[in-house]
Amino acid sequence: MAKEDTELRMGRPRSVRFNSLFSEDEFGEDQPSASPASGGSSWSDREPSLHLPVPDTFPGSSPGTLSDSMEDTSATSLLSPTIREGWLDKNPPQGSYIYQRRWVKLDPDYLRYFDSEKDTYSKRLIPVSSISRVSSVGDQKFEVVTNNRNFVFRAENDADRNEWIRTLQQIAEERKGKAAVRTSMSLATDSATEPADKSGFLELRGFKHKLFVVVAGDKVFLYKNAEDYRLGIGITYIEMNVGNVKEVDRRSFDLTTPYRIFSFSADSEQEKEEWVEAMQQSITEALSNSEVAERIWAVESNRFCADCGSHKPDWASINLCVVICKRCAGEHRGLGPGITKVRSLKMDRKVWTEELIELFQRFGNIMANQFWAANVPPSEAISPTSGSQERRRFLIAKYREGKYRHYHPLFGNQEELDRALCAAVTTSDLAETQALLFCGASVTCDTGDPQCPTPLALAERSGQRLQMEFLLHNKTSEPPRLEMVCSEEKPYSVHLPSITHNGFLYKTPSMVKPISERKGPEEFSRRWCTLQDGVLSYYENDRNTVPNGEIRVEEIVCLVNNPLHAHGIESTFEVYTEADRLYLFGLESPASAREWLKSIAKSFVHPCAEELLALDFERLGRLHYKGGLTLERAQEGWFALVGSTLHVCSEDGRRQEPLQLRKLQELSIQGDHEVLVLVERRRTLYIQGERKLDFLGWIHAIQKAASSSGDTLSEQQLTESDVPLLVDRCIDYITQCGLTSEGIYRKSGQNSKTTSLLEVLQRDARCVRLKEGEHHVDDVANTLKRFFRDLGDGLFTRRWAPNWLWATALEDEGAKVGEYRQLLAALPPVNRATLKALINHLFRVQCFSGENQMNTHNLAIVFGPTLFQTDGKDYKAGRVVEDLISHYVEIFNVNDQEMKKQQDEITAIMKMREASSSGTQQAGDFICTVYLEEKKTETEQHVKIPATMTAEELTFEILDRRKIVMKEKDYWSCFEVNEREEAERPLHYSEKVLPILHCLGTESYLVVKKQMSMENMLLYLASRVGDCKHGMMKFREERNLLGLGLSTGFHDRYFILNHSWLRLYKEVRSLRQRSPPLESSHKPEKEWPVRNLKVYLGVKKKLRPPTCWGFTVFYENEKHEKQQWYLCCDTQADLREWFATFLQVQNGGALWPSERPRARVARPQQDARLGNISLIPLRGNESEMRNSVAAFATDPLTLLRNV
Ligand SMILES: [Zn+2]
Repeated sequence: MAKEDTELRMGRPRSVRFNSLFSEDEFGEDQPSASPASGGSSWSDREPSLHLPVPDTFPGSSPGTLSDSMEDTSATSLLSPTIREGWLDKNPPQGSYIYQRRWVKLDPDYLRYFDSEKDTYSKRLIPVSSISRVSSVGDQKFEVVTNNRNFVFRAENDADRNEWIRTLQQIAEERKGKAAVRTSMSLATDSATEPADKSGFLELRGFKHKLFVVVAGDKVFLYKNAEDYRLGIGITYIEMNVGNVKEVDRRSFDLTTPYRIFSFSADSEQEKEEWVEAMQQSITEALSNSEVAERIWAVESNRFCADCGSHKPDWASINLCVVICKRCAGEHRGLGPGITKVRSLKMDRKVWTEELIELFQRFGNIMANQFWAANVPPSEAISPTSGSQERRRFLIAKYREGKYRHYHPLFGNQEELDRALCAAVTTSDLAETQALLFCGASVTCDTGDPQCPTPLALAERSGQRLQMEFLLHNKTSEPPRLEMVCSEEKPYSVHLPSITHNGFLYKTPSMVKPISERKGPEEFSRRWCTLQDGVLSYYENDRNTVPNGEIRVEEIVCLVNNPLHAHGIESTFEVYTEADRLYLFGLESPASAREWLKSIAKSFVHPCAEELLALDFERLGRLHYKGGLTLERAQEGWFALVGSTLHVCSEDGRRQEPLQLRKLQELSIQGDHEVLVLVERRRTLYIQGERKLDFLGWIHAIQKAASSSGDTLSEQQLTESDVPLLVDRCIDYITQCGLTSEGIYRKSGQNSKTTSLLEVLQRDARCVRLKEGEHHVDDVANTLKRFFRDLGDGLFTRRWAPNWLWATALEDEGAKVGEYRQLLAALPPVNRATLKALINHLFRVQCFSGENQMNTHNLAIVFGPTLFQTDGKDYKAGRVVEDLISHYVEIFNVNDQEMKKQQDEITAIMKMREASSSGTQQAGDFICTVYLEEKKTETEQHVKIPATMTAEELTFEILDRRKIVMKEKDYWSCFEVNEREEAERPLHYSEKVLPILHCLGTESYLVVKKQMSMENMLLYLASRVGDCKHGMMKFREERNLLGLGLSTGFHDRYFILNHSWLRLYKEVRSLRQRSPPLESSHKPEKEWPVRNLKVYLGVKKKLRPPTCWGFTVFYENEKHEKQQWYLCCDTQADLREWFATFLQVQNGGALWPSERPRARVARPQQDARLGNISLIPLRGNESEMRNSVAAFATDPLTLLRNV
């Protein structure tokens, strides 16, 4: 530090001599005579006078920050500490006798030499792994022998020379030994080359010849040529944590470091962009949080991949506690999270808790391999150069089958294993825990200790943090199994197929932002592409051997098939990677593009989601999501979007029912584009955005797929029963607000309002709520008509419309109806469902023709030309509509049950009207919030309540959504909770929910939970004779309501509850003596008809009830006068008996369905149109409406027949 400062103060040299980097002695020396690459030619031109300029200032750097960055560098190099350094004379190049003085530095990775000890960039780097031998060659000299090149150095004295030889030998041996321990094989095939993110030739300013440049991880390496790269003998490397890349002109860019500017030029603009991008990526990687990695690497054994021995592995399996390389990590992922949980040391920052890091430091690769790799036959081990198939085979054997593991002596004895595990977790012996766990001990075994029922709890009590951490990460781990399971049965055992495909593709430079505009053909360059061994590589042309770039298939997260002509090349597709990059490829031929897509998809999609490959997907990829039972844990799933259908495969390989996006009830984005919520009738899916780029794409694609895509019926957003949402919304609204509106559908609304409403509905009907007061019924009615008139292909379809019109000519009514029925069956399902919904609606409209003046004939005049899209001159169109309404029941096969529902619905509407006129009606919302178990935001469910829905159906609906299965003695019920009265009432299973919803005060809500006392109540009722109950209870009236002047507080009263009355007596004694004639001889002080009582469990605390077993009773007489009073029992059993008796009397004996359906199957699948009437009251003359409905209600079928 001080030295640097001094230097800065003294002024650094304004330029650095060129030959400090590439001095003349590099050229021609050390070359094996047969090397084809050297050729003895002077690619360097010996230009000692050429200088690389040093910038006056570095971007954003003052002398202070410069020294900061120097510190950073030294911090990084802590990982590769210098083992030995010093001045040596280096053997002269061929033809010269003069030794050159060089500063030589040895670290665990490289032997490098420099012009001086102050230089940052070496003149030469020799990977330690490529050193095969070091020997003395006399005269204070020694020779470093690599695979095909020798380097001779001369020390100042024998002692120094011997020390160098000893150190070099030791390091080289250690390096071999380390890899050998891990892989149990020789390093004969070890590659000295760095795996490249990008490599190729670039001009470096001042040179006639290009250098071979390699971007690898967080470094950029410079080689003289491609052959040197292959051999691993480089010039120098640039640590990118201090790098900065700046584009200079069309083909040039600067890589600036505090020590030097490297000015590169590429062959083309495309090339340049690719290089800039690769180097920027490298900087990102260098600056990524390497703190975790460094701490974990501080332990020697963690510096090599536990599986293949690769250097500096930056991935880990957090449950197996091994540090692994990127390539092994890819294969680990294929084993599934039940075997190994793969995380990045640098990117998955959140997962690395202090405990986990400490666990890796204390445990790590050595301990893990002592167990997992105790017996690896050399023939089966892998090395850093092993191909992906070899790796996969080895890793399956190692971790999934446990083939090489060190068996615990207790193996096979489950009880003993579990007992030993419980003991081990209370000690610091992690190795023992590991051995037990992976030899079959159960992580969730019963410890027999009620205070600490699990090993995890035991570890916690013993203060064993690391044991806890280890157990936590292995909570869901599967123990290894030797017997190979058939791949068909166990999807995760299927090997990812090694797909091979190649050919020319057009490619643009990769991007970090979504593509917002069309790319012209000139933006694509033709590249030779190969898909092989899990790598998609692109080359300048098919003769090149070094790729311009590579994408590893395990890093692919999403694949998008663009529509034809989306860009300047006919067919294009996009590849998204884990690192949030987007690659755009193109092809002239759609057929070849499809082949590429299929090949890439096959190579990166996990076998568990194999079936998605058969789909003609627009978008395919993996995402994290929550849904169903596992709301607390996100799981990885594979998603494929095909048209408006989203296919999902979960990580355990189970295919879920595809989501029909056009039928979603809700589609919303939570947070800052973090979670996409999809609500279907029976389930909710939360898709999480882990990466920005591909997730944004998914959001847009899903939103698009969930909206209407055209002007035909089937392209609309649909309800569950296949009716366009737009139609449903309009019909709903007219039913709520317009049935009695005069001239409905005949009167024209305001043109501008109709136009804008239609537009809004067509854009996204899901988000539109039509509200009384905001929308006029005539505007809505016209919107519906306009929709049908403009409908592509028409409601009756162009193909079948003439047949419909022709059928009107049939004179025989029966024949005509038969013909209509056949024609109806010929319509596409959506048209059929829509026609039925519409005619049903019109049928109801004409039921109110007394008020609205729209009888069947009038409606037919309006709707005939609209539906057939004619000018109105052809009377036949109207005739069809008239026939359809008149013969509604026969043509649409409406059965009694459906008619009954209709009747209920109308009755409900009428009741609501009444309720509304009596002022207790809450306006508007017919979507109700129901809670599960307790009132919390997380347990909220929004349910649309049809008029016919019973409490039982609602209960099932809620349980279904949360995938809860009702077990035998789980008495799940729907409760009405009155918060203000601190009381609740379980709804009877057959009770209709809608009327309750109506009267629900603002401080009340519905909750679905188990009815704990049900079993005891059933037992009580079963054991009892008769249906009466007598007894004492403490009674209190709500004084202000009754005004009877009773003193406040509770008083003893005698009650009798029989099948019709609840009676209250003041005189207790006499009652007890003469019970049978009691009712005749004694007049009760009060009596109430039981059916008019509503009994709630619980009494307001404010009233200071004498016991905690009380209930609150509401009574409403014919004059709608309300009373409210409170009763308290002495025991819980007494309360239960009273309550059971109330329920029994009120419900004719049935407290619980004798045959409870196991699933919601029992709920009749209702036509959405019939069941979904809202709570919004109707307009119009009340008594007339009531008469009409009354007539309708008495015998709906008669009414229909008369139409
Ligand atoms: Zn590895």
